[in-house]
Amino acid sequence: MNNRDGLTPPILVRILNQLEGHTGHAVEQLPHVYRGRCPLHPEDGPMLLVRGLSGGGVVIDCAAGCSARVVAESLGLEFRDLFLLEKLL
Ligand SMILES: [Zn+2]
Repeated sequence: MNNRDGLTPPILVRILNQLEGHTGHAVEQLPHVYRGRCPLHPEDGPMLLVRGLSGGGVVIDCAAGCSARVVAESLGLEFRDLFLLEKLL
C-alpha cells in the first residue's frame, strides 16, 4: 500500500494508511478521490473523502461535518504539518 497509484504523495499515503489502521476498513480509490470511513464514526459507512492536490495539499472532507483538523488529529497526524483544506472545491 505504499505505492497506490505511483503518483500519490507521501503525506497522502500516510493519511490513507492511518485511516485504514484506525477504522479497520479499506480505503476505496475512485477516479479522483479516495473514499473511506471517518475515524470518528466509522460505523456510519464510507463518508470521508480524501484527495491530494497538485500543489501538495490534502483535502479531508467528512460528509457528517467533522473538520479536517479533528479528523487529522484523531489519526495522530499533526495538523500544522499538513496543508489541509476543509472541503472539496
Ligand atoms: Zn466524520
